[in-house]
Amino acid sequence: MRKFERTPAPDFLEQNAKKWGEEYAAKKKNNPSYLFSWKSYQGKPVNQHIEPLLKAMTDEHCAYCDHFPSQTSDDTIDHFEPKGDERFYLLAYVWTNLYSGCADCQKVKRDNFDRDLLRPDAVDFKFHRYFIYDFDCHSIEVRADANPNDQQRAAATIRIFGLNRKGLTDARRHAWERYIGMNPAQINLLDFPYRFMFED
Ligand SMILES: [Zn+2]
Repeated sequence: MRKFERTPAPDFLEQNAKKWGEEYAAKKKNNPSYLFSWKSYQGKPVNQHIEPLLKAMTDEHCAYCDHFPSQTSDDTIDHFEPKGDERFYLLAYVWTNLYSGCADCQKVKRDNFDRDLLRPDAVDFKFHRYFIYDFDCHSIEVRADANPNDQQRAAATIRIFGLNRKGLTDARRHAWERYIGMNPAQINLLDFPYRFMFED
């Protein structure tokens, strides 16, 4: 998970989020097996309007694991507070609840949620405040010298996003090997996944 800054909500979303969220909530209450599908705005599904904006904030990387590049078939918008959980139906179109997430992170996270989960766009979020990167196992570990509350949040974040799943630790190892094998003058960090590894 790497820090990013959230840009302001697009106007059309700001203006319609409440109404669209209420419509979705009403449909779900009527029929709990109703499946979410994006509303259309100006002839185009809302996700197609906002996906490029979300991706721009993370330089096209996954907001959770920092995977890059994303595959074109990915359905890449994740609802941080899950749209399948009735506590959060009204947040289905709320800008700050939407993140660009890779298919694997979304598969692991599903409708799981914990109040302790860290948000990469929180003002006070920094990878190294909560985590240590283990360059032997390529795992992300909770910082032993962080305060107990930060430790609890880091642990919940690793668990719910599956940040140490096997495929991911392998992928980070490959990225690391590629990075250290390169001439530093030729490295463009934007082209790398898992950028928190290479940053202070
Ligand atoms: Zn991911």
